Amino acid sequence: MDEQLKIIYRNYGIADRFPDGTIELNKHLKKYPSLHKSLIEHEARHTNDVSFNRKDLLHDLSTPNQIKTMKMMKFIFRHPFSLVQFAPVYYTKKRGWIVDYNCIAGWVVISILVLLGLLWGNVI
Ligand SMILES: [Zn+2]
Repeated sequence: MDEQLKIIYRNYGIADRFPDGTIELNKHLKKYPSLHKSLIEHEARHTNDVSFNRKDLLHDLSTPNQIKTMKMMKFIFRHPFSLVQFAPVYYTKKRGWIVDYNCIAGWVVISILVLLGLLWGNVI
């Protein structure tokens, strides 16, 4: 892991990497050591690039197997503010408006799959 990375804790979302090399984690993750560890490892492998880029997208698409899904679901269920993670655009006092391009790409992929499913099943 890059020594320049700084980890700070917040009340919402799950985990994010910012261009200044900061990793922000939901403070409740401290109670889930294995999840905490795998999320830091995941964020550490992201680039500091703000704009949409292939490397970060591929990294996100290849990670779900590494992060224990059931543990993640349990965490989200117990800490509903973690759902902020799935908002493509959000606002924080500290960083202003944040646009998460990988998140937008994720929603686009999901929307296309849902649409194809509906067309395939002759629903629409
Ligand atoms: Zn990621």
